[in-house]
Amino acid sequence: MTKVLSVTSECAPLVKTGGLADVAGALPGALAGLGLGLEMRTLLPGYPGVLSQLSAAEVVAEIEGLFGGPARLLSARSGAVDLLVLEAPHLFQRDGGPYLGPDGRDWPDNPERFAALCRVGADIAAGHLGPWRPDVAHGHDWQAGLLPYYLKRDGTRVPSVLTIHNIAFQGLTPLDRAASLGIAQGDLTADTAEYWGQISTLKAGLICADRLTTVSPTYAAELMTPEFGMGLDGVLRDRRAALTGILNGIDLDIWSPEVDAHIHSYKTPRGKAANKRALQAEFGLPEARGPLCVVVSRLTEQKGLDLLLQALPALLERDGQLLLLGSGAPELEAGFSAIDHPNVAVRIGYDEPLSHRMIAGGDAILVPSRFEPCGLTQLYGLRYGTVPVVALTGGLADTVIPATPATLARQVATGLQVAPLTALALSNALTRLCDLFNDAKTWSKLQRNAMAHPVGWEPSAAAYAALYRDLLGALV
Ligand code: ADP
Repeated sequence: MTKVLSVTSECAPLVKTGGLADVAGALPGALAGLGLGLEMRTLLPGYPGVLSQLSAAEVVAEIEGLFGGPARLLSARSGAVDLLVLEAPHLFQRDGGPYLGPDGRDWPDNPERFAALCRVGADIAAGHLGPWRPDVAHGHDWQAGLLPYYLKRDGTRVPSVLTIHNIAFQGLTPLDRAASLGIAQGDLTADTAEYWGQISTLKAGLICADRLTTVSPTYAAELMTPEFGMGLDGVLRDRRAALTGILNGIDLDIWSPEVDAHIHSYKTPRGKAANKRALQAEFGLPEARGPLCVVVSRLTEQKGLDLLLQALPALLERDGQLLLLGSGAPELEAGFSAIDHPNVAVRIGYDEPLSHRMIAGGDAILVPSRFEPCGLTQLYGLRYGTVPVVALTGGLADTVIPATPATLARQVATGLQVAPLTALALSNALTRLCDLFNDAKTWSKLQRNAMAHPVGWEPSAAAYAALYRDLLGALV
């Protein structure tokens, strides 16, 4: 039996702002499903929305004085996930999201809130909090960056893995917070936690973890370049031997058109028609000759949707349609909301059931990201026969096989790729999409190929299992 502690700030379905939650929520069940004797427990902050969903929680340990207040470690189960929940009211019992207050701004004590999570993770690993001790500690993103740091500084002989879900978030904070974060003064140097005159908890983790992973092979390679590494490319080049890219899967119990409770379920692309009609009716979209394109996304610069605003005429000229669900940058929210066209509908907000209906009812899903560590919505698109139109970057490049004469002939094409990513190239891709859509035979092949493309967790879970095994083997 190999025991793994996963330390994460989000875990679907309990708390989610993005793909990290999906991964943290799906990996434990996927590992258990391999039948290799891997047991994962997931340490998660006790946000109000998490605590209110727990049933039969048990107290594992009382913690005195954790970053300024008392705390308790609870154990509970959510679906296939064995949870360890850090109940620390002074840090997590607040209105708002996991990272932002109701005013939409970062909580000023975010560094301390997640340092506390890491402190508790390191104490669990050291056997100080209850009888369960992991063989491996696996943290996610900057929120868990101090986990490998504390383990190393404490001399705890539990190897660590840190997964980068998005290097854009680096856990930056002023140097004078070092003491409150439990970072030794001597570690405020460029070869540990200091990053251009600040602390980066992500950097501390990247340097201290035994192994690093990110969520696709292409993003792993990209991270080592100045264009994508966001200032940490040098650190990652130095740690090249420790870094691997393991693609995310999707949870097929939640995201499969055969079992999805939010939609008119279907087994073949034909079944999409009822979902499309329902979606068009819901949003007052007319029947149209062109494809119904959907977008489900955070609205940020990363996602390249400003380019879609520019490229949209190409879709509308061919009587294509756009339905967008998302929220984020005010200028993008305003830009999409201002479109006044019968073939365009926009919903600003976050709506999980609607995202399922859109992915089932759309003909194509657009993901023109400037960078995309893995991306999940194109994977949902593949599984639902909703043809992905993606930028050639990160996990998008690794998961979508572009339609060319050769890939169409060999029946492997699953979508369209846009490269280089410009508004003009996106316009051209949308025009091409309309052409393909109007060629019923080819379109049906694309949909079938997409639905047959493997997107489940099994190969990825096996890759994590191999990583843990290697890591433990390396220590013997
Ligand atoms: P990122 O983590 O960068 O936001 P991913 O594609 O990896 O991007 O994951 C995004 C996840 O969040 C997907 O599960 C997607 O369906 C979901 N999502 C994003 N925006 C919304 C929204 N407005 N409503 C519902 N789900 C959303």
